[in-house]
Amino acid sequence: MKYIDKKLTIENTKIQNIAYKFGTPVYCYSFSQLKQNIINFKRSFQSFSPIICFSIKSNSNLNLLREIGKLGLGADVVSMGELMLAVKAGIKPKKIVFSGVGKTSNEISYAIDRKILLINAESISEIKEIERIAKSKKRKVKIGIRLNPNTDANTLNQISTGKKDDKFGVNKKSFIKVIEYCKDSKNLELECLSVHIGSQILDYRPYEKMLKVVDNIIKKIDFKFKYIDLGGGMGIPYNKNSKKLNYTKYNSIIKKFLKKNKSKIIFEPGRSIIGNAGILISKVIYIKNSERKCFIILDAGMNDLMRPALYGANHRILPSIKNSKMSKKIYEFVGPICESTDKFSTLTKFQELKEKDFIAICDTGAYGMSLSSNYNIRPKVTELLIKKSKIKVIRKRQKYKDLI
Ligand SMILES: *Cc1c(COP(=O)(O)O)cnc(C)c1O
Repeated sequence: MKYIDKKLTIENTKIQNIAYKFGTPVYCYSFSQLKQNIINFKRSFQSFSPIICFSIKSNSNLNLLREIGKLGLGADVVSMGELMLAVKAGIKPKKIVFSGVGKTSNEISYAIDRKILLINAESISEIKEIERIAKSKKRKVKIGIRLNPNTDANTLNQISTGKKDDKFGVNKKSFIKVIEYCKDSKNLELECLSVHIGSQILDYRPYEKMLKVVDNIIKKIDFKFKYIDLGGGMGIPYNKNSKKLNYTKYNSIIKKFLKKNKSKIIFEPGRSIIGNAGILISKVIYIKNSERKCFIILDAGMNDLMRPALYGANHRILPSIKNSKMSKKIYEFVGPICESTDKFSTLTKFQELKEKDFIAICDTGAYGMSLSSNYNIRPKVTELLIKKSKIKVIRKRQKYKDLI
């Protein structure tokens, strides 16, 4: 994104023109940014060429998934719906891993039939259920076990997944028991140890600790895993001054680990692939002054972009046309939803806005549309993909008749 003659553009297309043509709110993705992210990610770890499975829960648009598949990525899915979507997007089952703490019998059965790369199990009960279903189908099913390494990812509590009190994975003690169980099973083929300690991680040290735990446990059990799935979680800078994850460091830690353990690495990145490739364009409907601040009431709400309400996340907001007048009041950007948490940002410095102006909420490619809902009976919004200055509608705005 950049300003050209004071007009905000995405891949050289003016935000304002997009807003007029397609209406607001509207999600808009840049193909070149997406492609660049994938190239960068691959390059960061090219010395051991990992299997990269895009985490579909971060963005589940079918068209985007097709593009991501064509750029060489597989998929990490967490439900039957996501698995069906990945298959429909043309992603080969041999490049799909299935994670999640609560897979139902139906979901497990479907995954076994599709012959996916791995089902990453998260409890002893789940492993027994996979075994039961595999046996009934006379199959030997490839599985992974998710370890809860009890490492703090130094991220928001709501998106931490690798501490001992988080519901994910099995602890070290159970892990050792589970290995023994799998070794004896005729219907399970244990191929993978998986970990995923959280999301929006900007410090490489939690990954370092996590790998130490993995290394120790492998030493203890004397079992060779074909795959080590390190999950995703790589953070992106949401603000100008934010830290960036040091990929060089992360890469070298993994290389050190691989000297001792000869396994194929799997990654499950979501946010780092699609996060900064998307924006949410919205219109200022009303401006309302209160004593201490000024409410900028947008047509986008927490149902369209839930991260601020859900985690207190903060996204940069940019005006579609730059001017040089600064607002005298504090601006609070809010949505139209009947909840006080329906609030995007409170800014002390922002240019003066008028009603009917457009703004872009940045870095909303991940956990934006995929977390959206119909709360307040609001239709889900249009999604657009910009590729070489061509704009393609990749999801149509829902119609009221779909909802009522
Ligand atoms: C959510 C999730 C991911 C992706 O996380 P990002 O922070 O978007 O990279 C990967 N693996 C699992 C198991 C997940 O639950």
